[in-house]
Amino acid sequence: MMLTKLLSREDCAKCGECCIFSRYDIWEQPALSADVRQKAEMLLPDAEFVAKGKESCLFRIRETDKYDLFLCPLLDTEKGCMLDAEKPFECQIYPFQVTEINSHLAIILSMLCDVTAKKTISELVDFLKEGTAEKIFSYAQLHPDVIRPYDFMSPVLIWKHETPQNFNLEESNYVNSKL
Ligand code: SF4
Repeated sequence: MMLTKLLSREDCAKCGECCIFSRYDIWEQPALSADVRQKAEMLLPDAEFVAKGKESCLFRIRETDKYDLFLCPLLDTEKGCMLDAEKPFECQIYPFQVTEINSHLAIILSMLCDVTAKKTISELVDFLKEGTAEKIFSYAQLHPDVIRPYDFMSPVLIWKHETPQNFNLEESNYVNSKL
């Protein structure tokens, strides 16, 4: 998990808030890449999917629990996510989310996570600036299906242009090819 310095696996397993959806936010479930879908199909042979964007899919979740909530099919209510460290990218970075506002990428904070809600905005921004924001933006540029529409409520923590000036995907690839 990319955020272990901020959130322990135990904290996440105990909570599961980001794995349960209502009728109003069912669209917020994570985009499943082809790799993740393959793993999900092995664990859940009866799972159904719908396409999302160019290269991803979502679970088609038909069942609700007694509170009329939709649980991600990969959620084990005793142990947490069945995929553990191999969970979808959006789950790995939660409660951070990538969004696009006026054609600019930004990382926002979902307010549903109790652990990060107790941190200051400065602590979270400092954490992101230590390299995590670059990794998140880099992945989102390659896999735009993980970019969510802005909800006009969540605080914006960092914009793409606030990461190091010379950071971009072309340059990263170029540098790597010279090593
Ligand atoms: S894939 Fe795992 S972490 Fe992500 S919503 Fe489903 S159960 Fe939760």
